[in-house]
Amino acid sequence: MHRFTKSLLASAALSAASLLPAHAEIDVIKLKAAIGNSVEADYPKLDALYKDIHAHPEIAFQEVKTASKLAAEMRALGFEVTEKVGKTGLVAIYKNGDGPTIMVRTELDALPMEEKTGLSYASHDKTTWNGRETFVDHSCGHDIHMASWVGTAKTLVGLKDQWQGTLMFIAQPAEETVSGAKAMLADGLFTRFRKPDFAFALHDGPGAYGTITYRVGIGSSNSDSLEITFHGRGGHGAAPQHTIDPVMMAARFIVDVQSVISREKDPTEFGVVSIGAIHGGTAENIIPDDVRIFGTIRTFKPEVRAKMLAGIERTAKAAAAMSDAPAPDIRITEGAKAVMNDPAVVETAAKAMKVAFGDNFKTSPPGTPSEDFSEFVNSGVPSMFFNIGVYEPERVAAASNGTGPQLPSNHSPLFAPVPKPTIETGIEAMTLAVLSAFDQHARGK
Ligand SMILES: [Zn+2]
Ligand SMILES: [Zn+2]
Repeated sequence: MHRFTKSLLASAALSAASLLPAHAEIDVIKLKAAIGNSVEADYPKLDALYKDIHAHPEIAFQEVKTASKLAAEMRALGFEVTEKVGKTGLVAIYKNGDGPTIMVRTELDALPMEEKTGLSYASHDKTTWNGRETFVDHSCGHDIHMASWVGTAKTLVGLKDQWQGTLMFIAQPAEETVSGAKAMLADGLFTRFRKPDFAFALHDGPGAYGTITYRVGIGSSNSDSLEITFHGRGGHGAAPQHTIDPVMMAARFIVDVQSVISREKDPTEFGVVSIGAIHGGTAENIIPDDVRIFGTIRTFKPEVRAKMLAGIERTAKAAAAMSDAPAPDIRITEGAKAVMNDPAVVETAAKAMKVAFGDNFKTSPPGTPSEDFSEFVNSGVPSMFFNIGVYEPERVAAASNGTGPQLPSNHSPLFAPVPKPTIETGIEAMTLAVLSAFDQHARGK
């Protein structure tokens, strides 16, 4: 496997050998062609890896088999691999002379839900999650990220005479529960190993394949999770006068909390509260003692976040007070902070990507999902997080001008990226981002 990989990449390296004159800017067009050739030659193996990971997804902190598949790939490429960093994460280091350390992150985890794409490589796997049996699905596309991550590592090793420094490829567990990045940092990611000079990550989404979107500054939202238990007094559904009805309180809260968004928050600022789960009751004629609800709170700005948290708490207490019930238990757990893209890192990568991808490389508004990649950024690593599309451009155009159906987004059971062009774009974009950062650093000295 090692020999096979090396010989494939050796040809890519040779064809690109003279593309980076020591004191000039990188020749992006030639470099992109060299990267493209390397990826094309290696794609069948990446396709098999992608489909295997897709068919056998694992959820947060259970990604044992997924991590060992990636570990094998990276060892075959000559990376020094450490497993079980932050429970199921892995760190792969490749040293290639003096220079900066550049980190590239992929996530490992999938989601506890049933895939309904009908694809030949669809997942039928199940696991246990929060004490219940559930299907598992890579419906956030982290499998695309993993294939792109391995492909980028292969390409950069093949082009190793074009850069000097250290590659730090990390595979992070539990992104969906925004706890894996913290777990890796707590397990010494930046102390047992090293703190990188720059970091990059990508995420796929329902745009057109071949397109890449980015922005300077805020790249994703702040996320907080919300859990409220309304306490009532259970009894017979036919005699509510002897009870305090927590279903009523929860229902009232779920509707009224939206007035925090529409009446209290500045309408020009982003903020969302969504209730995703309601747990309460057992039968139609029994009023339960308690009802628990679970939700998510998303914002960009700290002052908007503070206003929303206060409004949510007030609304929950008021919903209970209206029923003359005890105060509810309110638990708001801070999740991921917004990812802030570093202007200098973005500028350097953007210059190369604009040349390589033309109009398919463009800025976008900040994404409303959250990302614990922010943990690495907030530890003081200048970073860039960018997005790639996954669907046929014609279908995306038809969906946006109303002549075709809406396309399934991430976390939909129908989310189905077109693998080859999506993974290829991921590898080309990430490889160029890393090479441009190495190049900028080399020329800056
Ligand atoms: Zn994701
Ligand atoms: Zn997700």
